Amino acid sequence: MSIDWTPLADLIETHDRFLVTTHVRPDGDALGSEVGMAGLLRQKGKDVRVVNSSMTPPRYAFLDPDRSLFEHFGADVGPGALGDREVLVILDLSAWNQLGDMAGFVREFPGPRVVVDHHVSQDDLGATFLKDTTAEATGTLVVRAFHDLGGTLTPEVATGLLTAIAMDTGWFRHPNTNAQTLRTVAELVDAGAEIDRIYRLLFEQNTLGRLKLMGETLSRLRTDACGRIAYATISRDDLASTGAIPQDSEDLVDFTVSMSGVKVGLLFIEQARGGVKVSLRSRDGLDCAGLAGRFGGGGHRAAAGATLPDPMSESVERVLDAVRKALDEDGRSTA
Ligand code: AMP
Ligand code: MN
Ligand code: MN
Repeated sequence: MSIDWTPLADLIETHDRFLVTTHVRPDGDALGSEVGMAGLLRQKGKDVRVVNSSMTPPRYAFLDPDRSLFEHFGADVGPGALGDREVLVILDLSAWNQLGDMAGFVREFPGPRVVVDHHVSQDDLGATFLKDTTAEATGTLVVRAFHDLGGTLTPEVATGLLTAIAMDTGWFRHPNTNAQTLRTVAELVDAGAEIDRIYRLLFEQNTLGRLKLMGETLSRLRTDACGRIAYATISRDDLASTGAIPQDSEDLVDFTVSMSGVKVGLLFIEQARGGVKVSLRSRDGLDCAGLAGRFGGGGHRAAAGATLPDPMSESVERVLDAVRKALDEDGRSTA
């Protein structure tokens, strides 16, 4: 799927002040793509602000070494201070609920909005969608924007975009990794992304709190549906007792599908504001985005998420029930 970048080129031609944002609980693809997009727009002489609804997880602080790029809506900047922004560029999301506290601001935003994304699920965000659902990461699409709009991949931009692609491919292990992925990575390494340094910064900066949370979570891993489902829960108390922060739960869901025989892995995380976030991961094709959609969430086929309003035990039961049924239906249709 190729993207026609003309709508973005036209906006660059006709506007000066851009606002870039991404999804709540931003991951490497979200933040790395922002580094890339901000770099591209600045090379085009644009005034760019990057404002997110969530704080930057410490793990990704290296993407903004002098803390001059990422601003936080509500904390550093309110809607009033963004009144001069002419164009809104939204990265790595296509759903209202992924905008968090910025949803109202985005709804009211008077100027044009563009979404650059690769998610299957899609709401009508009143935006021009520059989308390729076959892309492994939004970062890949930003690399293509550099090619098509004529930008230079600087070491800083290449570091952001390599982080984006690395995180959404599980460090080049998931089935969305292909030869073209690796060619893109090679181009980013040529441009100055230091793959060993990025790996160290992403995976070897664990805090004691995160490692303890990992241990706690793994010690409570359960299976269901004759070992086809593996799931774990993280409560607010778990965070307090281990000294972890909410962002420390990123990637822990991967352990659930690392178990032999597991088709669907689930991680349930109690949210500070109430409700339970569930992350879904599948192996061998069960549609996580479809399952998450039933609970108001979305994502990709192999990785999706949703937030349920119910307490933990009910959330677990509701989702387990839906996954068991989906596995049974899947089993019948493929039998
Ligand atoms: P997570 O489980 O949060 O790592 O999310 C897995 C994938 O699903 C990511 O690509 C998310 O952007 C996407 N996702 C998570 N929650 C939602 C949601 N409520 N609505 C739409 N997409 C989501
Ligand atoms: Mn993302
Ligand atoms: Mn992504």
